[in-house]
Amino acid sequence: MEKREELYRGKAKSVYTTDDADRLILLFRNDTSAFDGKRIEQLDRKGMVNNKFNAFIMQKLEEAGIPTQFDKLLGDNECLVKKLEMIPVECVVRNYAAGSLVKRLGVEEGIKLNPYTFELFLKDDAKGDPFINESHVVAFGWGTAENLVRMKELSLKVNEILTKLFDDAGLLLVDFKLEFGTFHGEIVLGDEFSPDGCRLWDKETRKKMDKDRFRQGLGDVIEAYEEVAKRLGVPL
Ligand code: ADP
Ligand code: UDP
Repeated sequence: MEKREELYRGKAKSVYTTDDADRLILLFRNDTSAFDGKRIEQLDRKGMVNNKFNAFIMQKLEEAGIPTQFDKLLGDNECLVKKLEMIPVECVVRNYAAGSLVKRLGVEEGIKLNPYTFELFLKDDAKGDPFINESHVVAFGWGTAENLVRMKELSLKVNEILTKLFDDAGLLLVDFKLEFGTFHGEIVLGDEFSPDGCRLWDKETRKKMDKDRFRQGLGDVIEAYEEVAKRLGVPL
């Protein structure tokens, strides 16, 4: 597989074309951003940890029947993926209240959500990733009603699979964000699943083990990601 030119440089990853029109290389950098890219720092080992973490999770999901972009790891910081037509919508599933839900509704952080919630946000940093609903997605042509049905179905299935996986590692899956795209017309899970895009708390102590350590200046960000990886058995 030959790496060609940089197609897109995101806040945390760079995307490269390859000699196969259907495949891309994702390069996980050490850049860490928060607040829609307003704060950016470099964290040693982050690219490697997230690349390997993502590979582990995507493979678990694939084995459990979720169609994912993931092909294979190419090295410490890179993986080969299917080239998707991305749908510019973030799907967020929550099992406990945290983050923007707490701010928006003024509820207490950590309360159990029964049932889980499913939310959509437009992927647009300049607009601050606004909260949207399904009718906006269809009306503005970001995705079809059929795409949305499948994205929700897959998001909830991912929640079931990963809640169990993290629970077995002594962690609460508080919430997470997924991005989907289409590959030859089918909805496929894209982007990444790593502690950058989810909230994970220790089951006993509720210690934060995810990107909130960076957002809230709690320190030991990568140490926490590595601890999560170790508990799951991710080879780093
Ligand atoms: P951001 O765009 O939010 O700054 P990243 O730094 O993670 O995020 O950049 C990765 C970009 O690549 C994102 O825009 C994401 O939607 C896109 N992307 C992720 N996976 C795929 C894929 N399989 N095919 C095409 N684009 C993808
Ligand atoms: N999230 C993400 N990218 C975003 C926005 C949110 O990965 O652009 C993740 C975030 O890490 C958390 C979940 O989605 O696990 C819900 O985030 P929330 O809406 O609470 O927003 P936040 O206040 O964290 O920006």
